[in-house]
This record gives sequence, structure tokens and C-alpha cells, in this order.
Amino acid sequence: MKAENSSPKIDYDVAIVGAGPVGLATALGLRQRGIENIIVLDQTRAFRKVGQVVDLLPNGLKAVKYIDNQAYENIKETGQKFNNPPQPNPESESKKNQPSLEWTTRNVKGQKIHSFPLAYDEYFRKYGEGRVSISWYDLQTQLRMLLPSDRLKINHRCVNVVAEPELKCVRADFISNQGVEANPYAHWENKQQDDKNSTVSSSPLPQSEIISIRAKLLIAADGINSTVRQVIYKNSPYSVYRKPEYSGIAAIGSGGAYEIPEALSQEIKEQFIHNSRLVSIMNDQISKDSTIDETTRMILFSRKAGKFGYLIHAALPLELLAGKSGKELINIALEELKKANFPEMIQQLVALSSPEQILSRPYYLHRAAVSDTEQPKWNIGRVVLAGDAAHGMPPFMAQGANQGLEDAAVMATLVSEIGKQNQWDDIAAIEAAFSKYESLRRPLIELIQQATLTREPLSSEEHRQEYNRQIYARNIEEIMQTLL
Ligand SMILES: Cc1cc2nc3c(=O)[nH]c(=O)nc-3n(C[C@H](O)[C@H](O)[C@H](O)COP(=O)(O)OP(=O)(O)OC[C@H]3O[C@@H](n4cnc5c(N)ncnc54)[C@H](O)[C@@H]3O)c2cc1C
Repeated sequence: MKAENSSPKIDYDVAIVGAGPVGLATALGLRQRGIENIIVLDQTRAFRKVGQVVDLLPNGLKAVKYIDNQAYENIKETGQKFNNPPQPNPESESKKNQPSLEWTTRNVKGQKIHSFPLAYDEYFRKYGEGRVSISWYDLQTQLRMLLPSDRLKINHRCVNVVAEPELKCVRADFISNQGVEANPYAHWENKQQDDKNSTVSSSPLPQSEIISIRAKLLIAADGINSTVRQVIYKNSPYSVYRKPEYSGIAAIGSGGAYEIPEALSQEIKEQFIHNSRLVSIMNDQISKDSTIDETTRMILFSRKAGKFGYLIHAALPLELLAGKSGKELINIALEELKKANFPEMIQQLVALSSPEQILSRPYYLHRAAVSDTEQPKWNIGRVVLAGDAAHGMPPFMAQGANQGLEDAAVMATLVSEIGKQNQWDDIAAIEAAFSKYESLRRPLIELIQQATLTREPLSSEEHRQEYNRQIYARNIEEIMQTLL
């Protein structure tokens, strides 16, 4: 690292902003392919247990396997433990009463609409790779542990990125992350906090507080609220796409280990949960628009007997959520459940939530297709966007991280070729590599974002099977070979 006022020197071949799943996976992929002079920088003050559970589906796991086999093995093992937590006594009653590894969708009357398996093996048989659930933090940790500690710096919040064509590099400026919440996950905090964090300061920062690095390439994996995206799009034809767009849907939920009266618990179990690990509840009588499915849904889970958690997805105006207390959020959720004719027992469950544990989260996206003719490019010169920074989306088809991991696999392949050919100074070769990345990735992201917003694949078994085959069954290794 060099202070800004010392003589310019290129510090790294590749700098990666963001130590989320995508930034870390890209770094591992580059190292596996011989690119060692890299750095990952993250704004977080400390790695802490934050973030939600992420489902890694066959395509995401295939991408991780291609990136780094050890990472794949470690993630798979952690995920399988999550699905099958060790039992104190394997023959005990609690083992026999374990919920089945199934996610069931029911209507508000409790009738089953459909269900699908969650078990690794079922996916493996169909698509050549399995499915695991893992917390965002565990995913980050498993990737992070494989990166030498001197390749990762925390407490570095990127605030500016500047092309330096005469030096054939890009300069990135960082400040220490004072005053920012330790939670590294964009849009996990409340809206006001997010807005505060996402603003790129236009007033000059005192030089003494800025640390700058120079790299041949910069990969921005700094999440949906990407600062790098905001900076590089600022004075470009894409300036209108600097910030993420609100999808129109927000979540209100309780991570939930709260208890409810035994009789209510029993009633909900019998009507909705039965023996499933996860249950989605929706009113299937409400008609929907074809461009975005705004149907109110609840994901309900009960990991321990008598204890519940839930996530309600509803079409809510952003202003309605801003600055609301836990109690107010519960009331908003109840209002939505009433409108969608959810039964009294579910309303009671929500009314009993602890206001201190309520979280709300608007879902944002960066559309991959903004018009028929022109899309905002994912790179400007030597800076390229990956993961949520390029194409973040709501989690309804569980593809955000999976797609980001596919980006990482492509990026590691193409950037390592630049290294092998020693083309770090060749801007035409770099542009060509980033165009290849984008032309391979964008059409798939368009398809997945469309599926996410309309939830079309969930409309029938036939559509689901077709979508799953299209997304999960792809041979990622073979696709990567076409890039070389
Ligand atoms: C409720 C919910 C459920 C989800 N479920 C799934 C699922 O089942 N399956 C799935 O595939 N995806 C899921 N996702 C989406 C998934 O979590 C994201 O797509 C994924 O985390 C994106 O990874 P990323 O590395 O691009 O960004 P992030 O995970 O957001 O990581 C970005 C990193 O950049 C850092 N950073 C941010 N700004 C700066 C800055 N200015 N300077 C330095 N560092 C910075 C952050 O601290 C963070 O570490 C879900 C998302 C949500 C909200």
C-alpha cells in the first residue's frame, strides 16, 4: 500500500473490492490459475456472523468446484451439516421426528400446491451436482480461510476509482470504515443506514485519511449497493443505472426462535407445516400481473419444536418501511396478511413476534436488460463489475450468489489468461476479455431475472422442470473451456 502522495507504483495485478462470496471466489480462482499478485479489500471492520441462509444450487456448486476444489469440498461439508445437524442421540425420538428435507408450498387454506426436495443427493442425480444450504457467513468463511491472510484487507471502504491510462492501471481510494456498521451485507440494515452508506461522498476527503492502491485490473464485487458501480457510471451514458432499482417487493421477517402458545403451535403445524423443513404460504386465488409477481407470500419454518420463524414477501412502497419500529413493521405485515386472506392462526403467529427481532429488507436489483437496444456495460476500461454489483436481484429463485459464483468462474478463467499472456498493459485484450465475460453471462442473467420477477417457473411442474434443467444441468467445465 502506498500513501496517495508518494510516487506512483503498480501494487497489484488484480485488486478485488468486496470480500463477499463473489470477490473471494474470484480471488481463489485467480490464485488457482497462477495469478498471485492480487488483493481483496473489504469495508467490514470484522468478520462477523451476519447474513441469511443461502441455497447453493447445482450450477453454483459446479462453479465453485471449477474455481477451487478444496473450497467446493469445504462448502459442501458445511452445507450438508446445516441440512443434517448432528443428533445427540441418533436413536432418540427427536431423530425420528426430524422434518423431511422438503420445501412445500401451500395455499392459505393449507392445501398443498407443490413441493420440492432439498436433499443434496436428489439434485445430484438429476443435474450432476447437489444442493446445499449454508449461511452467508459460513460461505464467506469457507472461502476466506483458503486465501492467504496477506491477500485480504478489512477496514478498507472503497470511495473512489480513477483510471490512470498513462500508468496503464487503475487507482482505487479507500477510507477506514469508521462509523459504518460491521455488518458487511448490503441492504441488511435499515433503509436510512443503507442510504447513508451508499452515498459516494462528493466533498473531498482529507488526504491523510485516504489510502490508495494501483492495480492493472479492478474487479468490483462490492454487492448490490456497489460504490464502484456508482463511481464508474457517474459521468458515463449509464449514470441513470448507478444505483440499484427497488424491485417493488420487500421482506418483513423474524429470524425466529420465538415461542407461541402450544395450542396455536399445534394448529399451525397440523394445517401448514406437517413434516416439511420449509413451507411457503400464498393465496393462490389472487391474480397476478405477468411482469412482476406481487403475491404476498410467507416462508415459514420451525427448526425447533414450538419455535417459529418467518419471512413475509409483499409489494410494499419503500416509504412505508423507512424508519419503522419493530412494532410498526409487525402491524404492516399483519395488514398485508389480512389483505391476502391469510388465516387467523398465521396472523396471531406474526402478532406474537418479538418487535426487537423483526427485520425488514427491501429487495433491489440491477437489471441485466434495461432496454431492447442498449444495456449498461459491466466494465469501463480496466474496471469490471461482478456478482450483485453487476446484476443483483431479489432472492425468489435463489440465484444471486449462484450466478455470482458463475461470474467468478468466468472472470478467473479470462483474467488468468490475460496474466498468462502477459497482456496486463494491453487495454484491447482486456476489453476483449471483459466483453467475452459479459456476452457469456448477460443472456443467462436476463433469463434468471425474468424468472425471478415473474416466478414463472413456479407456475407448473413442467415449467419448473424445464427451468431447472436449463439452469442447473449446464456443464460449467465445458462452458469454461469455450472461453480459452
Ligand atoms: C434474504 C436473502 C436470501 C438470499 N438467498 C439466496 C439463495 O438462496 N441463493 C443465492 O444464490 N443467493 C441468495 N441471496 C443473494 C446472495 O446473498 C447475493 O447474491 C450474494 O451475497 C452476492 O454476493 P456478492 O459477493 O456479489 O455481494 P455481497 O454478498 O453483498 O458482498 C459484498 C461485499 O462487499 C463489501 N463492500 C461493500 N461495499 C464496499 C466498499 N465500498 N468497499 C469495500 N467493500 C465493500 C461488503 O462488506 C461485502 O463483504 C439471498 C439474498 C437475500 C437478501
